[in-house]
Amino acid sequence: MYGAIKNDLSEQLSALKTQGLYKDERVLATPQGPEIRTKTGGGPEREALNFCANNYLGLSGRKELADAAARAMEKWGYGLSSVRFICGTQEPHKLLESEISEFLGTEDAILLSSCFDANGGVFEALLDKDCAVYTDSLNHASVIDGIRLCKADRFIYAHMDMDDLEQKLIDGRDAKYRLIATDGVFSMDGDMADLPKICSLAEKYDALVLVDDSHATGFIGDRGRGTHEYWNVMDRVDLITTTFGKALGGASGGCVAGRRELIQWLRQKARPYLFSNTIPPAIVGGTREAIRLASGAPEHRNTLRHNTARFRKAMEEAGFAIRPGEHPIVPVMLKDEVLAVRMAEGLLDEGIYVIAFSYPVVPKGAARIRVQLSAAHTDEMLDRCIEAFKKVGRDLGVI
Ligand SMILES: *Cc1c(COP(=O)(O)O)cnc(C)c1O
Repeated sequence: MYGAIKNDLSEQLSALKTQGLYKDERVLATPQGPEIRTKTGGGPEREALNFCANNYLGLSGRKELADAAARAMEKWGYGLSSVRFICGTQEPHKLLESEISEFLGTEDAILLSSCFDANGGVFEALLDKDCAVYTDSLNHASVIDGIRLCKADRFIYAHMDMDDLEQKLIDGRDAKYRLIATDGVFSMDGDMADLPKICSLAEKYDALVLVDDSHATGFIGDRGRGTHEYWNVMDRVDLITTTFGKALGGASGGCVAGRRELIQWLRQKARPYLFSNTIPPAIVGGTREAIRLASGAPEHRNTLRHNTARFRKAMEEAGFAIRPGEHPIVPVMLKDEVLAVRMAEGLLDEGIYVIAFSYPVVPKGAARIRVQLSAAHTDEMLDRCIEAFKKVGRDLGVI
């Protein structure tokens, strides 16, 4: 009987709209890339430069990946109608596992449909009620949910607060196993977890370390392997979860990589691995090509670094409040919720597509525009973006 809940939800949906918290999906009329076409409201289609995709290396719309995916689909078929352990494993799945594992510098890896599923499966399979898990207060929703699914004691430490983590490790010292889980890069601020310190604490208090490197795999670190490479702690991180849906082509899929026995165990026990379908051959083929491109030539990474430094410098010089850092996530802090939304609208009118983030995604009074740079942006595109920020920023009295 669809009655009470219908009325309830209708009311709550209207409330979201009046509070400005209702999420409308903008429809793209093009493949993903630095230049897109999109519609504003009911208006006409218009061109915009895209500064809000996780397309860090610029691979998402690249023909090489679509071609590799098409070849894999041609050879291995559209779908497998099976989980991995029944009849869903083909040669390319095994190859992708060894290639991503080699790229990340780990001993082994398993594929999952997404990083969300990777995080959904890893904690429950490894930790029981006698264990303890330590999680940064700003970890990604999928890390939070994965931890909810396991019965271990949960300790939430204040964001990047290593003293708080240490105190909680002391509080949980009687647990059978301890595991510290952190995002490698936090997506709202672009700040990086202090992995050397986390690894040292893990060694001091006998804990495992898991890093969700979704916003780092492919481009952070000298060879783009991620935050563990950046911090030079590659052999001190036990588990990495990551996505193929961001820098590595941006389609979908994810993995857990790490120590051999941990991965072997996940292959036996991780529920999203056992009870959800295998990744389709096309995605496997596309992702293998993305790893080849990401690990082979450094020019995508170098361009991304150049773009990030150039944009950050110009925006600071223009007088914007930028959160400092080196990550291609560049939060332009506006504080005020309404101002952030008006800024994003004004930028779209100037042909720059960015998104404003406000409470509850970020703390109250910390509204911002999150700019994300890509290796696919040219200097000319960056200049157009910077000029648009300056113009709209002046109009709105931000600078
Ligand atoms: C994007 C993201 C995910 C989710 O990845 P999917 O493969 O899209 O499920 C998980 N963790 C973090 C930190 C992310 O940024």
